[in-house]
Amino acid sequence: MWALKLKDRILYGFLIMITMPVLMFSVAASTIVGFQMNSIQESYHVEGDTVQILTNPIQILNRLTRGTYNEIKLAALKTPERLEDSRYIAKLDEELKKKYSFIAVRKNGTFIFTGNEEQLALIEDDLQNFGVYSTEVDGGTYIEGKNPFLVKAQDFYFSDGGEGTIFVITDLNTLVPQLKAVVMQFAISFFFILLFTALILSFIIYRSILRPLNVLRFAMNQIKEGDLEYSVRAETQDEIGQLCEDFEEMRIRLKELIDSRLAYEEDIKGLISNISHDLKTPLTAIKGYAEGLIDGVAVTPDKQEKYLRTIMTKANDMSILVDELAFYAKIDSNTIPYSFKEINLHDYFEDCIEDLALDLEIVNVEILYKNDTDPAVEVVADAEQLKRVISNIVGNAVKYKKDGETRIQIRLQDIGAFIQVGIKDNGMGIPKADLPYIFERFYRADASRNSRKGGSGLGLAISKKIIEDHAGRIWAESELGEGTTIFFTLKKSDKNIAG
Ligand code: ADP
Repeated sequence: MWALKLKDRILYGFLIMITMPVLMFSVAASTIVGFQMNSIQESYHVEGDTVQILTNPIQILNRLTRGTYNEIKLAALKTPERLEDSRYIAKLDEELKKKYSFIAVRKNGTFIFTGNEEQLALIEDDLQNFGVYSTEVDGGTYIEGKNPFLVKAQDFYFSDGGEGTIFVITDLNTLVPQLKAVVMQFAISFFFILLFTALILSFIIYRSILRPLNVLRFAMNQIKEGDLEYSVRAETQDEIGQLCEDFEEMRIRLKELIDSRLAYEEDIKGLISNISHDLKTPLTAIKGYAEGLIDGVAVTPDKQEKYLRTIMTKANDMSILVDELAFYAKIDSNTIPYSFKEINLHDYFEDCIEDLALDLEIVNVEILYKNDTDPAVEVVADAEQLKRVISNIVGNAVKYKKDGETRIQIRLQDIGAFIQVGIKDNGMGIPKADLPYIFERFYRADASRNSRKGGSGLGLAISKKIIEDHAGRIWAESELGEGTTIFFTLKKSDKNIAG
């Protein structure tokens, strides 16, 4: 039942609301009627069908005493002297006793026979005077009140001319309260059945609607209070279950959003502290050397020149850092306007190596270049930004070289839809623990930090962003003390892929 849709459940609830009271009331009614009719039938010795007893009980009771009544009536009209024979009447009266009835005979306003004095006293005042009860009136008269009776009567003249009336009186004191009880029991059982049905329906509604809604409300309050860990499980597959699932999805999204927001804020804090630290270090040096000059610590012209050169270098470092920072800010907020063009890789790299070779010769670094790709291969790239990536990587190879002969090898390979570029050096290498983080902004491996190479920690982060904006990938392989290779991929232009 709980897998049903809510609308089906409401429909079932409605059907239950209709059929259950009807069924239960039928059972209750037949039990009540059966029980009460048995007792009525036993009390009055009536035989007849239950419906008739219920719908017209007086009629049934009327029929009950009819035989005796007719006999006594006939006697009154034909042989009135018999009615003065109390034994005869007493015999008839005896028969009626079984049916809650008795005979009374009145002569000239006085009762000369009474089957039940007590009961007669109760209705004596309601009995009519002589001359009312004619032969035409069949059946009986119902006397209502606290003590209901059914009275059948017939006027006649005694043989001595006296005015007589015979009464056959049936006590309804048992029947009427019993019938009233039936009605009362009907009403009570109807009330309880409705109550029971209402309880069942309330339970169904509570189980399927209110309870899950309460759970959801609680969860919402938790979120309002800032607790995003409180998860809601869908217990049903209906609309409310769906709502719970949607709610849970929303909670997870919200949590991710807030988590990423918090991470971002942490990031910004880290960024600011990094920037201020990285600016502070050269500034402190500049300040120190400038003070040294003013205070006359540098006495010889040589020393003064050394101080000034140091100030110059530090100012240059700062300038580079600020430039890189400005560029990083632009690239991070996607405000760098790339100008993508189809570039022939052979031509591009040959020019590039030529430029680099001049600079590298000055610092005594050898560069080797190997291109295993098709000479016609082209990639779609921004030539200027791609140059920035290559310079960053080559620059690092120079920055982190070891003593001795330094060699940089650049190799291009075709790997299907992409061209893979590998730039390998034989420098100091990167510790395993640092390797996964070197592309993060401001990350500097301990080794390089200690050797005070003065990098900004932004070069690889910038390179990564540029390569990813070219739909490529960048990664590093390194062996501490042996060297490092930085790889990146460039997507071939569509016509190369098709060919
Ligand atoms: P930096 O300005 O410090 O060079 P990068 O983002 O370019 O910043 O590099 C991040 C860190 O990765 C460097 O500080 C250095 O520790 C390490 N690294 C990068 N390239 C090399 C390399 N070729 N050899 C050794 N370490 C390197």
